[in-house]
Amino acid sequence: MSVKIPILDLKPEIEFLWDDLMSAIQGVLKSGQFIMGPNVKAFEEEVAAYLGVKHAIGVNSGTDALVIGLRAAGIGPGDEVITTPFTFFATAEAVSLVGATPVFVDIDPQTFNIDPNLIETAITPRTRAILPVHLYGQAADMDPIMELAAKHNLKVIEDTAQAFGGEYKGKKLGTIGDVGCFSFFPSKNLGAFGDGGLIATNDDQIAETTRMLRVHGSKQKYYNETIGYNSRLDEIQAAILRVKLPHIDEWNEGRRRAARRYNDLLKDVPSIFIPYEDPNTKHVYHQYTIRVLDGKRGVVQQRLADQGIGTMVYYPVPVHKLPVYAGSNFSLPAAENAAAEVLSLPIWPDIPHEIQVCVVQALAGQAFRKPIT
Ligand SMILES: *Cc1c(COP(=O)(O)O)cnc(C)c1O
Repeated sequence: MSVKIPILDLKPEIEFLWDDLMSAIQGVLKSGQFIMGPNVKAFEEEVAAYLGVKHAIGVNSGTDALVIGLRAAGIGPGDEVITTPFTFFATAEAVSLVGATPVFVDIDPQTFNIDPNLIETAITPRTRAILPVHLYGQAADMDPIMELAAKHNLKVIEDTAQAFGGEYKGKKLGTIGDVGCFSFFPSKNLGAFGDGGLIATNDDQIAETTRMLRVHGSKQKYYNETIGYNSRLDEIQAAILRVKLPHIDEWNEGRRRAARRYNDLLKDVPSIFIPYEDPNTKHVYHQYTIRVLDGKRGVVQQRLADQGIGTMVYYPVPVHKLPVYAGSNFSLPAAENAAAEVLSLPIWPDIPHEIQVCVVQALAGQAFRKPIT
């Protein structure tokens, strides 16, 4: 096979919106306003309306959204934050950056998200917050998380970097806890052409602190009240995101359709598990992630690579095993097993059916018994 299949192809969506994107970018260049201009304000209002949340506040990245969101929620030195070990490093990094300590709780092996049944035993007198991640675009189990938070007076900060537009029991992800943190890194479901992020909250106090922290800790220019950050969403990125936002639901639907086609194509392939979809959630398939059993992941990934098919392992090392947290001694077998077995396949909103067939044929190799129709 000579075709090269990337894990993500952004070209179709860029080409589809080319003229609108160009005029949005040109509009910003002509306005000469590059920081905190009308597009940022309008984008924040449009996202707030889309999410059904009181405040949406643009920042420079998803990582900054987590850092600023944690600080705005009052988390700081000496505090413990309960989170998942099976995530991108930035989740735990943000906790450490605000001076708090991440406490890792194992995952539910079916959803790959934090297991709410294991949270309560991890709560100590220093615990101040729970930081669930909606991994791969699927909601963490929010009801029990919110119940535990209410019972123990904890804040809930949702890492929604991979799940823009996803839902839990009909509620938009990132609007259930005290703070929702989003990333517009180019490969996310709603991606900018550079870095970008956003904080969503219904809490006026958190919103006010967030707005202050993103501009060097000042409400009034040049009257800085606290140590903050230079963390604004660029005007040009906001203009680009405003062109893309109206399409997010159809793009997420496209990803869901692609996932159903993979489920169907893969159902008779031995030694793999297709993704589990929790009926309480609208999974938006930031990643379509299978498990390859019997220690065969390396072989399968190599076989796909040999045929020009891009795959990724998100994530090969659970966060509690990373060198930076080497001092901690967590034993989290579900996360460790997941890290050894997961494999994410090519997916984007309008991935052609034929490409999915190629991927599955290459993946199954000799083991694929059923002819693909
Ligand atoms: C991408 C991502 C982040 C960080 O977002 P950036 O915009 O790259 O800083 C945080 N958490 C998760 C789960 C992510 O996937």
